[in-house]
Amino acid sequence: MPLVTTHAIVLHAFDYRETSRIVRLITRELGIVSAIARGARRPRNKFGAALDLFAGGEAELVTTLGRDLHALNAFDATRSRPALAASLDRFAAAAALAELLLRFAPEQEDPGLLDAVTDALDALEAAPPGAAAPVALGGAWSLVAELGFAPSLDACALCHAPLDPAGAVAFHHRSGGALCAACARRVTGARVLPPEARDAIRAWLGRCASPPLDEPSVRAHQRLLREFLEEHLTDGGRPLRALLAWERHEVDA
Ligand SMILES: [Zn+2]
Repeated sequence: MPLVTTHAIVLHAFDYRETSRIVRLITRELGIVSAIARGARRPRNKFGAALDLFAGGEAELVTTLGRDLHALNAFDATRSRPALAASLDRFAAAAALAELLLRFAPEQEDPGLLDAVTDALDALEAAPPGAAAPVALGGAWSLVAELGFAPSLDACALCHAPLDPAGAVAFHHRSGGALCAACARRVTGARVLPPEARDAIRAWLGRCASPPLDEPSVRAHQRLLREFLEEHLTDGGRPLRALLAWERHEVDA
């Protein structure tokens, strides 16, 4: 039973039986893993508050070939993120990012992805009150880019013809991004992506901040992101609950 020590972030945690917790982690060495923290619900256990949601640290995992559930021997939290749980805006956004990872990230080594998640959560923690959503939208698109399915924005997703960088374009989730006028006429379900919305997504994919967005624009971006992700799901029709909840959440002032 190989022992793996790897940097990890807690994305999900739930109680298991009387004394244990099961966590889902994104790790540098193994990608997404599930692990059981035995005894984590006992008083004065060795994990303490280390397994709080979105905490980062060094995880010591005992892996068993062919098993989906590893054993978490220890978790040395080096970065707890209490500010994410302290505000509903930030928490709803962080939960949406976690869901994106849990549904799309691979079960294999991906150091770039772990760095992108770390950056996204750190930026969200530092977001000013009321400004969590645009920051998290940026984080989400940076994860999509890192996962390798960023939408095409400057060339037609179907025929690869260059698109006017400053104009409105048709955006078609199933085709994988923006379309030229000729291709847009041949598909159904495309929506108009205004130039400022395309600029924002372009900035986020390149890990830059977007220009300031008003509330209706934020909502439109949340919906576009969710619909894009839904189109790329490969694990059946389960809804993206956290993304939906985030979209419907009323922003705290
Ligand atoms: Zn085209």
